[in-house]
Amino acid sequence: MNAADSLSKPALFLAETHEVVNVARELADTNLYLSDLALQEAVRREGAAAAHDALAAFGQMAGAAEYLELGVLANRVPPELDTHDRFGHRVDLVRFHPAYHALMATAIEHGLHSSPWTDPGRGAHVARAARCYMQSQVEAGHGCPVTMTFAAVPSLRTTPELARRWEPKITARVYDPRNVPDAQKQGLTIGMAMTEKQGGSDVRANTTRAYPIGPGGPGTPYELVGHKYFVSAPMSDAFLVLAQAPGGLSCFLLPRWRPDGSKNPLQVLRLKRKMGNVSNASSETELRGALAWMVGEEGRGVRTIIEMVAMTRFDCMVGSAAGQRAAVSQALHHASLRSAFGRRLIEQPLMMNVLADLALESEGSLAMAMRVARALDSRADAHEDLLVRVLTSVGKYWICKRTPQLTYEAMECIGGSGVMEDSPLPRLFRESPVNAIWEGSGNVQCLDVLRVLRKAPAAIEAYFAELALARGAHAALDRAVAALQRDFLDHADLEYRARGLVDRMALALQASLLLRHAPSYVADAFCASRLAGTGQHNFGALDRGADCAAIIARAAPRA
Ligand SMILES: Cc1cc2nc3c(=O)[nH]c(=O)nc-3n(C[C@H](O)[C@H](O)[C@H](O)COP(=O)(O)OP(=O)(O)OC[C@H]3O[C@@H](n4cnc5c(N)ncnc54)[C@H](O)[C@@H]3O)c2cc1C
Repeated sequence: MNAADSLSKPALFLAETHEVVNVARELADTNLYLSDLALQEAVRREGAAAAHDALAAFGQMAGAAEYLELGVLANRVPPELDTHDRFGHRVDLVRFHPAYHALMATAIEHGLHSSPWTDPGRGAHVARAARCYMQSQVEAGHGCPVTMTFAAVPSLRTTPELARRWEPKITARVYDPRNVPDAQKQGLTIGMAMTEKQGGSDVRANTTRAYPIGPGGPGTPYELVGHKYFVSAPMSDAFLVLAQAPGGLSCFLLPRWRPDGSKNPLQVLRLKRKMGNVSNASSETELRGALAWMVGEEGRGVRTIIEMVAMTRFDCMVGSAAGQRAAVSQALHHASLRSAFGRRLIEQPLMMNVLADLALESEGSLAMAMRVARALDSRADAHEDLLVRVLTSVGKYWICKRTPQLTYEAMECIGGSGVMEDSPLPRLFRESPVNAIWEGSGNVQCLDVLRVLRKAPAAIEAYFAELALARGAHAALDRAVAALQRDFLDHADLEYRARGLVDRMALALQASLLLRHAPSYVADAFCASRLAGTGQHNFGALDRGADCAAIIARAAPRA
């Protein structure tokens, strides 16, 4: 064929440049519950076996292609703020993509914001955590208002007259996103406003002031003047807010609208431009004499709102464990379909080491989160209540902190396409540091563990009693526990050493849970890689002898 011939060929021939082969396909239409062995086992073990069928139905819905697409859309079109309407009235209206509202509606209709309060009892927190775990794999941003609504209830209950008025609508399974007074709605969502410019971790630095309108005290109205530098979900119907009352830092319930139907002046100045958590609006606000009711006792604001914070920290743990599961599922799925150098990636020894290691991390996170869920269900039992106190901080710190590294590694398993915006990995990666930073960042969690050690040493004893249930199951765990106990007795420089201690507390607990409940190939590889030897630095450095094929087969998301 000469040059003139090839130029005269039709365009159709020129368009057939190559066949698309050796690529993955979307991971969709999997049942997020039935395809996840570790999740099903955890649900059964921790007391929610009765929820199996309902969770399977939820998993089917959440894993469907069209539902996963909602997560994509809700993040592709970020929320927008209208401070005023076109006539000049103040409206503070945030507009979201319909996909965000669809996700919110599903979450609320399934009780992700309320089921342990409306239907408490055995397995209630566990079943909710399992639903949150699946829902968060689809989209994490809307989890923020769902969590805050859920978490507000224990704080609100410190003031029964407020709880009587608000709780029924907060826990109702009705999502109503309209920008109208709470009296006109059947279902309400709640936000939280603590952080100010000059201090987030140290809320005692808050300068927002609260002026009593009448005699003052729990359940009575105040007017708040000041600012809040991070207010997520600003379309919430009300917020738990910290402000300085005459008697000290106190907690308040601040609705978006006053009872007379006028707008309460919690004014949204602008929306944050966040690297992740894009579907969820976070805002900067000013309070210009906003009406609010005192929750809990005057001067006991931190004590009151910590009830809410504890629940949001638990949800951070569940949410980050879910992020890990979503990332590992993508990596396993891709590696099972892609070949390089003559073999599928999932069969290449070094990739098997990486994938198995990621799967171990993910299963350890899930086991820990679900163990705390069971403790939440059993707080009448003193041991379980003490576990909640210590493990909420340990788990929030460890699971959230491990997630960015794991997510990046899962991205690398996918190769260059994992970096591209049409892959789920960039969204998972951008989301991954958020849980670690908000609701008390890493150091704050570690300092909390030390506070527990000082104020409630029985909680540390409960932690070690829990570890003792796996005594003798693995020599590396026995050694790790002995060393940890020794190091807790040394009170010198505790604050300086806190991260090292809490790291080891988390690993020992995860190892003990896996030894007690997971197959031995999972538990042994976890202990060998995380407790024995010098400790690993990157994923993919499991010792010889780890049964990577079995670990991978257990973790693989099945169609
Ligand atoms: C996306 C997003 C949404 C948010 N939404 C909300 C919201 O809705 N409501 C709300 O109230 N807040 C919200 N926040 C704020 C968040 O809770 C705070 O950013 C967080 O508590 C940390 O406070 P800070 O930013 O002031 O950091 P700082 O308190 O200044 O802390 C900075 C660093 O110092 C460390 N540190 C602090 N004290 C110590 C110490 N004693 N020893 C050692 N290290 C220490 C911290 O761990 C942290 O690493 C949001 C944050 C983000 C990122």
